[in-house]
Amino acid sequence: MALMTGQQYKDSIRDMKVNLYIFGEKVENQLEHPITAPAIDAVALTYDLANDPDYQDRITAKSHITGDRVNYFTHLYQGPDDFSKRLDLMRDLARRHGMCAGARCVSGNIANGLDSVTFEMDKKLGTNYHERFRSYWERVQREDLSVGGYITDPKGDRSKRPGEQPNQDAYIRVVEEKKDGIVVRGAKVLISGASIAHEALVMPTRGLREDEKEYAVAFSIPTDTKGLTLLHQLPTPDFRRLTEGAKGMDFGNERYGVYNLCQIFFDDVFVPWDRVFMCGESEFTGSLVGRVSPTFRCVTSACKCGHRDLLLGGSAVIADYNGVGKAGHIREKLSEMSFESELSYGCLLGATQRGYVTGSGNFFPDPLYANVGKYQASKALWFCARMGVDMSGGLVMSMHTEKDMKHPVLGPLINKYFQANPDVSTEKRMKMMRLMEYLTGIGNILVAESSQGGAPTANQQLVVNAEMRKVIEEAKIRVLELAGIEG
Ligand SMILES: Cc1cc2nc3c(=O)[nH]c(=O)nc-3n(C[C@H](O)[C@H](O)[C@H](O)COP(=O)(O)OP(=O)(O)OC[C@H]3O[C@@H](n4cnc5c(N)ncnc54)[C@H](O)[C@@H]3O)c2cc1C
Repeated sequence: MALMTGQQYKDSIRDMKVNLYIFGEKVENQLEHPITAPAIDAVALTYDLANDPDYQDRITAKSHITGDRVNYFTHLYQGPDDFSKRLDLMRDLARRHGMCAGARCVSGNIANGLDSVTFEMDKKLGTNYHERFRSYWERVQREDLSVGGYITDPKGDRSKRPGEQPNQDAYIRVVEEKKDGIVVRGAKVLISGASIAHEALVMPTRGLREDEKEYAVAFSIPTDTKGLTLLHQLPTPDFRRLTEGAKGMDFGNERYGVYNLCQIFFDDVFVPWDRVFMCGESEFTGSLVGRVSPTFRCVTSACKCGHRDLLLGGSAVIADYNGVGKAGHIREKLSEMSFESELSYGCLLGATQRGYVTGSGNFFPDPLYANVGKYQASKALWFCARMGVDMSGGLVMSMHTEKDMKHPVLGPLINKYFQANPDVSTEKRMKMMRLMEYLTGIGNILVAESSQGGAPTANQQLVVNAEMRKVIEEAKIRVLELAGIEG
């Protein structure tokens, strides 16, 4: 089975016995839970699109390992074309789900790094990590698995190195080596899509020294392995999904949800040797982190460009629904959003052009442009979110619920007083506002308050422009004087 369907993916997740908790309660069926079900739909989309003849070329590639057509999320990058295709895919997928396919996104970048570093380890040390890793990844490709990418450790006191921490387990480590495998203890935090992935692919979060060998460990395990506890995080908008009576219009990104993010605790977990890809070789951790980081930075920034595309579209639609779609300052803001976003995407493509291929045949982007692209991606997203709030108006943080809209007394009042553009129903405006609330990341009134409270930016520009015109007249007189020009 080289390509699963979305339904097959869902069935396989249902069959897993993941030890997952949400809001203090054990989750028995992730497909029916209001927090995990939408995130599962977002990942299922990556399976369904791979089976869609019109989309297949964009999301699949011929594997150089199996020779079969595999999903791009399991494909190892062979050159710049491969990598830019992945970037385009990330951007396009984000436009489609407005969420995250983290359950299979981060790991591809770790796999690409491990494939190359294990090759070099074997060459230098005579180990057989590369063969192990290849045979593991071949299975991932053949079975079309979703693999979570586990890099981030809790890290304890940030000013101290792993071995200096009062909590010895602040970074994941090997506590025992056995004949048939190793035992690991610690935690990985903030892992995207962890509970809805079949497998976990774990690597160190930083370069390590000779005396930190116990932390130099990379391995894979099924997500329902004994000894693992997963705790799902609840960003603010997710709480609405747990509120009785809340539905549809109250959710923003109704279909695909907010995020799937977990903290994972490893309580002396056994990992058989055939799943261990590094165990004590601290000298190779620097190159592993140094290759995976820029690669992942490009990929995660590409999907942010997709999110900004949604912010751009949402801002344009809401401006239109508000009745000001044709205003000059709106058009300027949309153009500025696009500029900031493409600046980032251009850097990612630059990083791809300047990338390099290692001895194992794996492609990696240029670290400088990857990091510039990531930096700009973050700036652009915050900027576009601010513009999105600006164009939406204060309603973006003061919306009515679906229950209010359906209420016999409140409904007619809302309909009467919250219609703007006469061609657009109040309901449509509310739905789009709720999506903008999600896209702009508002979980607190401060962001909207700082933009709308006391009037949006165009009002300040009016005042500043009027004052500026006065100053400019005075300044014109001064420069004419300085240049010795009369009249
Ligand atoms: C939505 C989301 C999804 C994520 N998905 C994944 C995933 O799928 N897989 C994964 O592995 N990780 C994931 N992460 C984790 C992400 O990589 C980390 O959040 C990031 O690396 C920062 O680590 P931290 O959160 O521990 O913050 P910290 O490292 O504590 O950083 C907080 C601040 O402290 C500063 N700081 C930290 N250490 C030092 C120091 N020694 N000296 C000076 N300043 C310092 C930082 O610069 C920063 O300003 C995700 C995070 C988020 C928010």
